[in-house]
Amino acid sequence: MSREEPSSHFYKIAVSVIFHILTIFPEYFISPLSVTMLRRSIESGVVRINLVDIRSYSTNKYRNVDDEIYGGGAGMLMTLDPVARAIKKNFTSGESKISIYLSPRGEILTQKICEELSKFKEILLLCGRYEGVDERIIERYIEREISIGDFVLPGGESAALLLMECVTRLIPGTVGKKDSVESDSITTGLLEEPHYTRPREWRGVEVPPVLLGGDHKKIFFWRKEQSLRITYERRPDLLLRKKLKEEEKKLLRKIWNEYWKK
Ligand code: SAM
Repeated sequence: MSREEPSSHFYKIAVSVIFHILTIFPEYFISPLSVTMLRRSIESGVVRINLVDIRSYSTNKYRNVDDEIYGGGAGMLMTLDPVARAIKKNFTSGESKISIYLSPRGEILTQKICEELSKFKEILLLCGRYEGVDERIIERYIEREISIGDFVLPGGESAALLLMECVTRLIPGTVGKKDSVESDSITTGLLEEPHYTRPREWRGVEVPPVLLGGDHKKIFFWRKEQSLRITYERRPDLLLRKKLKEEEKKLLRKIWNEYWKK
């Protein structure tokens, strides 16, 4: 009897992306990486995480990784050498690879950027602490600076985590139904319509009757109208950027007329 071959499924699983996370607080990531989608993606081999402790690359007796800033001023800066060594040891630039420094000075992360990043095979995420990293690190090793919003965090770890989650869920096989990614707010250029689940009546509030009728065309138009309405109310800037279909323009005119009459 021939030896049993390992299942072909095993061979089909290819790592889609490797995240090299460079941080002085690797423990920050332990819990988020051990639950839900990231955990499943790691376990199935779609995502690989290389968690790098920058402090372990410090040759300083006390493993210090910060120093004063030239020219004076408040705060400290991350020392050059441990960061440089950590990058060199764990990442080489090349095709399908990108090095990112999480920074409030960077371009603001959007769904479009996440889609671009989901095509890369290796992504380096450098998390700053203190007042950040020496500019020469950015000049030498960093291809893109990314901010997660116009506010200042104490460190880049939560930004790296956020980016990693957004990018990972775009990799095929990480989120259950493909549709649930494609119909998301922002991805479609609009905000998503409201959703309801059981029970049909909850504390006196009924589920909109159209969703119970089973008429798919009616449901489609109801959802489209709600999505346009909520976008019009909350994020009209998105409507200016979206190429609307004729049916969407018609619904929007109806919504606009209603507001105009108020
Ligand atoms: N002095 C820096 C400045 O004004 O640009 C801010 C340093 S901040 C206190 C420490 C670290 O947190 C940064 O090096 C960066 O890695 C991270 N960080 C802070 N705000 C961020 C944001 N909005 N997006 C991404 N990373 C951020």
